[in-house]
Amino acid sequence: MFNSLPAQVVMQEVPGEISLLFSITGCDVGCKGCHSTELWNEEYGEPLSEERYRAYLNQYRGFVSCILFFGGEWQPKQLSEYLALAKTMGFKTCLYTGRERVAREIHAQLDYLKTGEFDHQVGGLDSPDTNQKFYDLAQNKIINYKFIND
Ligand code: SF4
Repeated sequence: MFNSLPAQVVMQEVPGEISLLFSITGCDVGCKGCHSTELWNEEYGEPLSEERYRAYLNQYRGFVSCILFFGGEWQPKQLSEYLALAKTMGFKTCLYTGRERVAREIHAQLDYLKTGEFDHQVGGLDSPDTNQKFYDLAQNKIINYKFIND
């Protein structure tokens, strides 16, 4: 089981969706300039048991459209099961990973995927020079342009 910070409703991270965000601790990507170094410690946060996770999904059903994970791909079985549960309840799903690719079993349960580590020299998704990619997997398209203000 993995630990998470308390879930948060967020509006900007997945274009066109209101998302419930679970930040999973234990990230080992080690991006220079990481804004969330507390996520490196796998002991930080509270265990996201299936019971607690289901309670969140039931509570936010009808209020959010997407379940979003920051990390957790280092436990592919756990994460893919949690994503599958969200999909069976009618939510869309998204993962933000600092890696370039994720396990097939995770990918199969996702509607959206953000890949790539954070590099402060080229910036994040709101930078035209970023190394990161945000995929709309249903449309098989990269939609970084939706993060960039004119
Ligand atoms: S992937 Fe995210 S949490 Fe992990 S080191 Fe990079 S910026 Fe920090």
